[in-house]
Amino acid sequence: MPADYHTHTPLCRHAEGEPEAYVDAALAAGLTEYGVADHAPCLPEPFDDWRMLEGELPDYFAWIERARARANGRIPIRAGLECDWLAGCEGWIADLAGRYDWDYLIGSVHYLGDWDFDNPKWLGRWGECDVDAVWSHYWKTYAAMAESGVFDILAHPDLVKKFGGIPAGDLDRFYEPAIDAIASSGCAIEINTAGWHKPCAEAYPAPRFLELACSAGVPLVISSDAHHPSEVARDFPQAIELAKAAGYRETVLFEKRKRKSETL
Ligand code: ZN
Ligand code: FE
Ligand code: FE
Ligand code: ZN
Repeated sequence: MPADYHTHTPLCRHAEGEPEAYVDAALAAGLTEYGVADHAPCLPEPFDDWRMLEGELPDYFAWIERARARANGRIPIRAGLECDWLAGCEGWIADLAGRYDWDYLIGSVHYLGDWDFDNPKWLGRWGECDVDAVWSHYWKTYAAMAESGVFDILAHPDLVKKFGGIPAGDLDRFYEPAIDAIASSGCAIEINTAGWHKPCAEAYPAPRFLELACSAGVPLVISSDAHHPSEVARDFPQAIELAKAAGYRETVLFEKRKRKSETL
C-alpha cells in the first residue's frame, strides 16, 4: 500500500479524531507511510473558519509528535501542511517552510479571488456563474501555483468539478496547459479519493487528466484527504487501479522535502 500524505487534524475545526486513532488506522490499512497535512494558517487572521491559526502551530507540532509516539517506529510519520495558493502568498509559504522540519508541503487551490468555491456554504454562487469562465480561472490559477515552485505536491487537481459543474466539450483545453506547467515544475500531483464521496462522484483528477499527467512524466501520490480516522487510506485499492489504468507504475515518497519512488 502506498503512503497517505493528505490527512487532517481537529485543529482545522472541521476534522475529528485523535492522533492515536489516525496512526492505528494507517497501521491497519498497511500503509507504507502516514503523513499529516492539515490546513495551514493564512494571513491576515482570522482568514476563514476552516484552518488552524498561526498561534496554533505549536499545537500542530505536538499533534505530530503524539502520532510519532503512537507509531513508535512501526510506520514513518511524515509532517506536512496543506497550504492555500493565494495571490502573493509566496513569502508567507517560505516563512511557514522554515517553521518546522517538514517532509513535504502540499499546495491547493480552494480560492478564486475571495471565493472558496469548494465550500458548500457558498453553493449558491455556482448558480450565478459561467462554468467555463470559472474553469479557465481555476486552471490558470492551478498552473501559476505549479510554476511558483514552492510546493512538493499539488492537491486535488480538478477540485473545481466538486459540485458537478463541468464545461461542455473536450476538457483537454483546460488540462493541457496546466499539465505542461506541472511537468516543468517537477511537482507531484495526487489522486485524491475524497472526490468519490462528493457530488462529482469521481476521484480528483479525472482519468483523462491522469493519463495526460502520466505521459508528461508527472510524479504521483495517492491521498485520502481524511478528516476522520475512518477515512485514512479510503478507496486506495480503486485508486491504485485508476493509477495503473492511466499508465502509472510507481508513486513517490517524501522525506525532508526529498522525493524517492515506490513501485505500485
Ligand atoms: Zn478540510
Ligand atoms: Fe483541499
Ligand atoms: Fe485536505
Ligand atoms: Zn484538500
